[in-house]
Amino acid sequence: MKKPTIAIDGFSSGGKSTFARAIAARMGLEWVDSGAMYRAVTLWALDNGLVSTEGKLDAEGLVAALPKIDLAALAGDPRLRSVEVNGLVSEVSRLPEVRERLVAEQRAMGAAGGVVMDGRDIGTVVFPDADLKIFLVADPAVRARRRYEELRAAGVEVTPEEVERNIRERDRLDQEREVSPLRRAPDAVELDNSEMTLEEQMKWVEERLR
Ligand code: C5P
Repeated sequence: MKKPTIAIDGFSSGGKSTFARAIAARMGLEWVDSGAMYRAVTLWALDNGLVSTEGKLDAEGLVAALPKIDLAALAGDPRLRSVEVNGLVSEVSRLPEVRERLVAEQRAMGAAGGVVMDGRDIGTVVFPDADLKIFLVADPAVRARRRYEELRAAGVEVTPEEVERNIRERDRLDQEREVSPLRRAPDAVELDNSEMTLEEQMKWVEERLR
């Protein structure tokens, strides 16, 4: 039997990656965190002087450099989750050329099935024929608290207010951008995990797949 393709989309810090990773481990699928790929391009732009000291992105320079960015070399870099990257990633992910390159790579990774991928446009653009599409939602205050705790645990100095502001701003930018805005695919099932444990979410998904 062909292994399923599962698409998980939703807002920032909604627990998509934790959920996707757990599904992959339980079902023997490959997990792809598409957000990490947008973060890697953003980190590359920061490291290569394509962001001015005022924080302005050189979009043209980044698009020109795209073919030479080695995404694999940036995978797992702890700075992917930094405040700088958080503040700039929505700006980078607006660029159609960036999306084009990353979507092509994501489709190639999922070509043989057996993938659970989380992001913003997985059910709408990357895998419109996914076997299961989940649109994850959670209360913004709950998301901000989770993200704050995660950052503090990683030793990042932030205030809860900064975290909540960044989350709301990314939600807005991700929904309002012209190319592949964050949307629930018409055939996606919505799951509100504000009050759910990971184990409860796993039960829910196993029932769905049955
Ligand atoms: O999922 P994560 O919060 O790590 O994603 C970081 C950013 O990357 C998002 O705020 C969004 O701007 C962008 N992104 C995207 N499309 C995806 C995944 C992430 O535009 N499929």
